[in-house]
Amino acid sequence: MSAPRTEASKSHALWEEARQLFPGGVNSPVRAFRAVGGEPVFFERGEGPYLFDADGKRYVDLVGSWGPLILGHAPARVVAAARTALEKGSSFGAPSAYEIELGRLVRQAMPSMERLRFVSSGTEAAMSALRLARAATRRDLIVKFEGCYHGHADGLLVAAGSGATTLGVPTSPGVPAAVAAQTVVLPYNDLAAIDRLFAARGQEIAAVIVEPIAGNMGVVPPRLGFLDRLRLRTEEHGALLIFDEVMTGFRVALGGAQALYGMRPDLTILSKILGGGFPVGAYGGRADLMRQIAPEGPVYQAGTLSGNPVAMAAGAAQLTELARFGVYDRLEAASARLAEGFAEALGAAGVPHYVARVGSMGTVFFHPGEVPDYATATRSDTAAYARWFQAMRARGVYLPPSQFEAWFVSTAHSDDVIDFVLAAARDAAKG
Ligand code: PLP
Repeated sequence: MSAPRTEASKSHALWEEARQLFPGGVNSPVRAFRAVGGEPVFFERGEGPYLFDADGKRYVDLVGSWGPLILGHAPARVVAAARTALEKGSSFGAPSAYEIELGRLVRQAMPSMERLRFVSSGTEAAMSALRLARAATRRDLIVKFEGCYHGHADGLLVAAGSGATTLGVPTSPGVPAAVAAQTVVLPYNDLAAIDRLFAARGQEIAAVIVEPIAGNMGVVPPRLGFLDRLRLRTEEHGALLIFDEVMTGFRVALGGAQALYGMRPDLTILSKILGGGFPVGAYGGRADLMRQIAPEGPVYQAGTLSGNPVAMAAGAAQLTELARFGVYDRLEAASARLAEGFAEALGAAGVPHYVARVGSMGTVFFHPGEVPDYATATRSDTAAYARWFQAMRARGVYLPPSQFEAWFVSTAHSDDVIDFVLAAARDAAKG
């Protein structure tokens, strides 16, 4: 199915203008639709489970701003909290009670966050946590996993070198080879590779950073024993374990993946849901480590808008809503229906697929079997995904514009909304 005709639309006119202003017409690459073809949609407003484009067309939104909008668009309590805060001033650049409220809610949900620091994005949180890990261990080497994304700090835009335990290589021009060489990249879910690396270089490793449920190669859950092996090997070798819960935090459970799997990382990074739709990140964990952050310790990190009152108020309102009884059960039920319905629709049409899901995040891989790692994910039929994306878009459902991204369900996705999506899916699957 080809992309819908958009030449006469307002969305198209905006796109033409945006291309004169921004690289690729966008302010974050995946929004340009390069992976699925056609022109990106320009949106005007969101309401509950829906997005409305510049031409007034309505879509069921399964992207949710890439995860933050777990209560849907413009939820009344979050909007009210942000508005009330904004009327009292948009930024103080000084401490306020808003930070304490959100900080308390985070620690209640994730007891491993004994102390934390608010920042403004997931990238900033990951970068700062790695600096702390290196300072605390007096080591330089970082271990990450292929297909996991932790923001775009230099040392994290790295792919595996020729051998899994050799130097990482930059994945972007502008990343110095010397910086990339301080990162080792291993295949996700590969226990033997972890064992080999620690046996060879365990004493050099400052930290292992991992998405405890990967969401940036499409959703790839950890296999049994994967996270435990990371905990074991890091502890044995005096390295730190950092959970990147930017996507999974408050998503797969109020306490994130660490609550779901009963794990205690040394440091955690958060963003997305934490900010209630505003730009907020956080890193935190063991108090003895966090005491090394300035001004209590020597590890420098700062931010003009860190702890921004409007963002803190929105985040606190969102977490308070999530803590209500039954929220995650409802999310689970709606998401299970969606995943099963997608599988049924594609199965009935004879399309090879594999649906991965943990709680309210999931991916339909156009791949015939389990996807445990990046190498497998990249064997998916991305052309089939692009056709599915466009067919769903034409039927009023906005999916992530890439095979290698997660869809997200919100509490605003009621039974009726899921019915609508599944009817579209059955129709779209016929091709
Ligand atoms: N970590 C994970 C797991 C993410 O999914 C993302 C962004 O999608 C980031 C870090 C980077 O966050 P940000 O885009 O806020 O810099």
